Amino acid sequence: MSEVSQTVGILGGGQLARMLALAAAPLGVRCLAVDQAPDACAGQIAELVQAEWHDFAGLEPFAHRIDVATFDFENVPAETAEWLAERTRVFPNPRALTVAQDRLTEKNLFRACGLDTPAFVPVDTRPGLDEALGRIGAPAILKTRRFGYDGKGQFRIKSPADADAAWRALGAHTGRAGLILESFVPFVAEVSVVAVRARDGDFRTWPLTRNWHVDGILSASLAPAPADDAIAGAAFAHARAIAEELDYVGVFALELFVSADAIHGQELRGQRLLGNEMAPRVHNSGHWTLDGAVTSQFENHLRAVLGLPLGDTSARGVSCMLNWIGELPDRDALLAVPDAHWHDYGKSPRPGRKVGHATVCAGDAGTLAQRLQRAARALGREAQVQPVVQALAAT
Ligand code: AMP
Repeated sequence: MSEVSQTVGILGGGQLARMLALAAAPLGVRCLAVDQAPDACAGQIAELVQAEWHDFAGLEPFAHRIDVATFDFENVPAETAEWLAERTRVFPNPRALTVAQDRLTEKNLFRACGLDTPAFVPVDTRPGLDEALGRIGAPAILKTRRFGYDGKGQFRIKSPADADAAWRALGAHTGRAGLILESFVPFVAEVSVVAVRARDGDFRTWPLTRNWHVDGILSASLAPAPADDAIAGAAFAHARAIAEELDYVGVFALELFVSADAIHGQELRGQRLLGNEMAPRVHNSGHWTLDGAVTSQFENHLRAVLGLPLGDTSARGVSCMLNWIGELPDRDALLAVPDAHWHDYGKSPRPGRKVGHATVCAGDAGTLAQRLQRAARALGREAQVQPVVQALAAT
């Protein structure tokens, strides 16, 4: 029997839950979000329950009112996901969530599935950091294994002399979950696979997306990424292998570095993919699908967790998503650009906070570049748009 007109419970009430709720309405699906903050922005669109993650008494009525639970936030404690799985269906399953919460287990999974990663060493003590630097060398990045997001919980180590500063910045985290030292990858591009797997194993990917980060926060995404077919095919195969290993249900993103391999003599040995991290949820690099794909990542995530047939993941043309960090630019100026779409998350402005995004779409790369330049001039966002326009010009 069809499971539409049911209620999807979402752990986390941020912009991802908000966009899931917006996609749920036309399907006849209700969303109930739970968040620690009473003013979480999904509450403007869906019913919001306020509860702490370990407040099982507070979560009990939530668990009883929903037909299936999912996440807008991957750092929900494993105990909470497991507690919920004893009461209702939870997608993705708690194991998938737990593996993706920890950069160490995540990288071990990637390697077990045949996806290479940057060199890494877990770090738990100050002498351990020196030892790890001895093994990996500099430059390197020290990261918290858990709870890092948008570039937070990271320290770039340019030379071993930076080890003290890195430890001062992040050493306190070893009490919580430890750290990981990764070699710094001089990548030529960052790309992500946004993929969806249904309960019956149907697996689909949206076209490969190219991403640009500023200060560790996603700034712009371009889809389909200008990339050769071999790279895209390999990225999709890695995403599928990981999804199958985790028996994953729902949307996830796999973030990858495209690195130019070592140059031997004069010969460039080609490009290869290195796994950075996976997000066990709908992802910022898939926001373009709202306006630029036949079915959005939000709709397909709901279809997957509810056991409905998946929708077509093809792109409608070429799209660029621009993130609005800290504050929103001039909405009306953006809307004057053809095929430009505005997404306000209803959040108050704050430095470093994602408050909205826009997507500019077109039928071809040249038209998209022109529209982006027009948008950039109107909004004073030339620097944000420039790498995307350059990439479009190279296609
Ligand atoms: P993350 O939170 O791990 O996704 O890191 C945020 C951003 O920092 C990435 O999207 C990259 O731009 C950069 N970054 C993270 N790890 C590395 C690495 N090992 N080498 C080079 N850049 C990195």
